[in-house]
Amino acid sequence: MTIDNYKFAGKKAIVRVDFNVPLDENGNITDDTRIRGALPTLKKILEDGGSLIIMSHMGKPKGKVNPKFSLAQIKEAVGAALGRDVKFTEDCAKAADAAAALQPGEVLLLENLRFYPEEEGKPVGIDKEDPAYETAKKEMKESQKAFAKTLASYADCYVNDAFGTAHRKHASTAVIADSFSEEDKMLGYLMEKEVQAVDNILSDIKRPFTAIMGGSKVSTKIGIIENLMDKVDNLILCGGMTYTFAKAQGGKIGLSICEDDKLDLALDIMKKAQEKGVNLVLGTDCIAGDKFSNDANTQVVSAMDIPEGWEGMDAGPATRESFANVIRTAKTILWNGPAGVFEFDNFAGGSKAIAEAIVEATENGAFSLVGGGDSVACVNKFGLADKVSYVSTGGGALLEAIEGKVLPGVAAIKG
Ligand code: AMP
Repeated sequence: MTIDNYKFAGKKAIVRVDFNVPLDENGNITDDTRIRGALPTLKKILEDGGSLIIMSHMGKPKGKVNPKFSLAQIKEAVGAALGRDVKFTEDCAKAADAAAALQPGEVLLLENLRFYPEEEGKPVGIDKEDPAYETAKKEMKESQKAFAKTLASYADCYVNDAFGTAHRKHASTAVIADSFSEEDKMLGYLMEKEVQAVDNILSDIKRPFTAIMGGSKVSTKIGIIENLMDKVDNLILCGGMTYTFAKAQGGKIGLSICEDDKLDLALDIMKKAQEKGVNLVLGTDCIAGDKFSNDANTQVVSAMDIPEGWEGMDAGPATRESFANVIRTAKTILWNGPAGVFEFDNFAGGSKAIAEAIVEATENGAFSLVGGGDSVACVNKFGLADKVSYVSTGGGALLEAIEGKVLPGVAAIKG
């Protein structure tokens, strides 16, 4: 079923959203992108005369009630965004009465799903090495099914619009779908858009295809780097992982971030790129700082010859130029991870050069997808988010989808 074809009038829809928004110490929302992202789906259901049961997780309460992660803190903001009063239940597993009382056009927000360990379905308080772990895991899977059934019992139909958690097989993201027929479950608009954007990258590749992978570590990106090697023409590796590659090639990297146990892996990636005819582009120079701070003294040095006591914190001018040249001519672009410590304004220039080159390529007809928390923060910081083709809300989910993995949240609905 699709959200456009479903008749929501008089129906109760339980909608999984990702309202895991950042809060400050007073519980105020500091970035409401995720709430805004779900609005088209939520409004569509209400405008069609349906009622809404909204469910989400927030933070990592690890299966226990914790007021710090209560969704009560965002109730008013959700109401303001929808232009309606929002009812709230303090226990997501005891919401049957509140759900039954909902009238068309009314909204009920459930308390944080992850206050119950059944949401994630992992046994708590027992070590993986413990011989009793396997039994605990089986028992938890059964409780997870029961928890999902309880949630499903509140509604006539199920909508999943939480792309950020689509790579998790949780009660509310996947298991719950088993309780609904094909006719009564569907992806929300945000999920549809995200899935489409990944599809654009994977199935309709216009060449050259350039991927830019940055961030702090090579270890967390290795799955996607290896996978991309079979697809891309150009692979730009930047950010902190630059120095693991530099050291692996015998460079001196001073105090730069480095994964010493990944030196062989770095050489292996270089070899694979060569074998597969992928143009691997690494930084040649960098802006080094004498401390990890925005007001560090800086100098431009070779990424292979960083002085003692200094660390590479951003791409240097020659590197920016070479990256931009490759990006400008691309027709398909994927960017995940910054080229430097962009949180410090003085080390954001490399990431900005990448963002600007992506914008230029996009203006010239390229499809550009920016995803993963930090690169999204980058394009937002530079005010360029609306000048790229698509900004994904998914971090892990996006990377797993691009790695070619089937997302449980999508599979539960689409089969
Ligand atoms: P990740 O979560 O792996 O995508 O990494 C994002 C983080 O990498 C950001 O917080 C950046 O500040 C950080 N980063 C990028 N370049 C460097 C660098 N040269 N040294 C240390 N951290 C970096």
